[in-house]
Amino acid sequence: MKLHTIYWPPEREEAGIREAAAALAAGGVVAFPTETVYGLGGDARSVEAAERIFAAKGRPSDNPLIVHLADAKDADALAGPIGELERKLMAAFWPGPLTLVLPVRPGAVSARVTAGLDTVAVRVPGHELARRLIAAAGCPIAAPSANRSGRPSPTLARHVLEDLDGRIDGVLDGGPTGVGLESTVVRVVDGTVHVLRPGGVTAEQLREAAGAGAKVVAAGEGPSGDRVNNETGAGSEASEAPRSPGVKYTHYAPRGRMTLIAADDPARLRSGVQDAADAAGRSGAKVGILACAEHAGFYRADAVLTLGSRERPEQAAQALYAALRQCDERGLEAIFAESFPEKGIGAALMNRMLKASGGRIVRV
Ligand code: AMP
Ligand code: MG
Repeated sequence: MKLHTIYWPPEREEAGIREAAAALAAGGVVAFPTETVYGLGGDARSVEAAERIFAAKGRPSDNPLIVHLADAKDADALAGPIGELERKLMAAFWPGPLTLVLPVRPGAVSARVTAGLDTVAVRVPGHELARRLIAAAGCPIAAPSANRSGRPSPTLARHVLEDLDGRIDGVLDGGPTGVGLESTVVRVVDGTVHVLRPGGVTAEQLREAAGAGAKVVAAGEGPSGDRVNNETGAGSEASEAPRSPGVKYTHYAPRGRMTLIAADDPARLRSGVQDAADAAGRSGAKVGILACAEHAGFYRADAVLTLGSRERPEQAAQALYAALRQCDERGLEAIFAESFPEKGIGAALMNRMLKASGGRIVRV
């Protein structure tokens, strides 16, 4: 179905919220800013709205959607029982970029939203415009990132239109998003917080909020520290770490072939990246480099894109997805990206960069 896309500029915010909320209440799908990335929202109780989200994105229907609420007190209507540790995390991080996977109350949201699971992923976004929109719509809003499946998540309203114009009812423009990467998805099992997807809330922050009595297991770490095979159905022993169905899908890939280059020593990193770029250039490829601000001036390539300071991984997190889109716009065929330190938000940043690289990482 081809739909007209409405675009609400910031100076018409009130009218935009009213129109967008009316579209959502009528079963439509509308993109809106959150503090992580732009989301594509629809009434989480409606089968049709959920189907329209999956269709607009081209998203596999076995990958469940996160349900967004205007207020933490609305969580009990959707999910339960909610444990003490989960409530502690909600109090610490909501509104904010933390998604909790909780037991779903039967019938509270469409089975399309949960992909038929007995759990539902819930969060309260830390962006005021998002909360006002959800409150005005008067229903829980299922909202995955507002990109075509497999494309980088949108951090500007323009990115949403690039991917979804003509496929959705509109986009509410709130300017650039803050974090630039998606929310952290966690599930609490027997007093342990399992990070299913790293994101805007760091493992360090989770540890601090959870307190000494609780364990936090970072994404990809099994109960014995092994790397967990995160694919759905790859084992369902109760003793194993819970999994997020979404992690089995390829994500965030630019069209060009991206390779992540890692080194502990900055000088070594720079020569490793430049050597790789030169070799690709000699074989005729149009070459791009994704670099930190401190190193960008050293490089020669068809395009050098700066992600932000090495000391401030939150800058690179904010800039990454727009940079990946630029790689496509500039027709780059071989992309070499500097790795970043995995501290704080750097862990989520590296998780996304590794995915964009299809897992290709070269240590130099
Ligand atoms: P997106 O909406 O594109 O940011 O992706 C949502 C992420 O949350 C995906 O990785 C989903 O697999 C994950 N997710 C959503 N619902 C659940 C759930 N009930 N259990 C585990 N993971 C979930
Ligand atoms: Mg997404």
